[in-house]
Amino acid sequence: MKDYIIAGNWKMFKTAAESISFIQQLDQKLDAAGPYPEERIEVVVFPPFTSLYAVKEVSPRIKTGAQNFYFEEQGAYTGEISPLMLENIVDYVLIGHSERRQLFHESDENINKKIKVALVHRFTPVLCIGETLEERESGETFARIEAQLAKDLAGLTPGEAARVVIAYEPIWAIGTGRNASPEQAQEVHAFIRKILQEKTGAPGAMRILYGGSVKPENSFAILSQNDINGVLVGGASLKIDAFSVIIADSVKLLNSSIR
Ligand code: PEP
Repeated sequence: MKDYIIAGNWKMFKTAAESISFIQQLDQKLDAAGPYPEERIEVVVFPPFTSLYAVKEVSPRIKTGAQNFYFEEQGAYTGEISPLMLENIVDYVLIGHSERRQLFHESDENINKKIKVALVHRFTPVLCIGETLEERESGETFARIEAQLAKDLAGLTPGEAARVVIAYEPIWAIGTGRNASPEQAQEVHAFIRKILQEKTGAPGAMRILYGGSVKPENSFAILSQNDINGVLVGGASLKIDAFSVIIADSVKLLNSSIR
């Protein structure tokens, strides 16, 4: 079990050449603050499909993930990528990111199918959930989170559910520069942990990441929270210095007595 997961969602940014150069630099930066505790901090990047294979080859200690995939193994599905094609390339798969839910109309039903398929292929699914600004302002955050977890994890055994990493990403905080405060994030994370405890009977094992405008200015405070096991970073994960600072913050926290 890793103590932190620091993940970067690159979205539709970086060519293969740019991705390789970034990972080469990041690999060097990992050791900058002393020996990097690989067994306790998992650094994961979710590059575009066209960069995945190259990224994997550059640094074995930086894990890779797919931003999406289709749940069938093969067939007449033009433009799609199957889990079979991702085997031996990725460790993680991102499922249900709000951009996919909103722009590509991904339903909870499809998300649930993808989680089950990901587990069969032994990928670690990172399930993204979160409320809209309207839902937060009308006091519906917890109901929304509970409903998403119920639908997206439906039919999973406790053991299967415990293998899913949850990323709490309030939609109003994604790409807006406006992050949830560490206390707001902690409150929702504690709630998610309670729900998952009921479902899995293994609360300690669940890994719950926060995502939404994480940057060097707020990463230390966010990572310090009790129920936050790491972060899913969008914009700041594209910048080598910013992403390195966020990783370094997790190293600092591991080496301190704060957590
Ligand atoms: C994301 O895309 O998952 C994300 C959290 O983006 P950003 O950090 O840019 O808000």
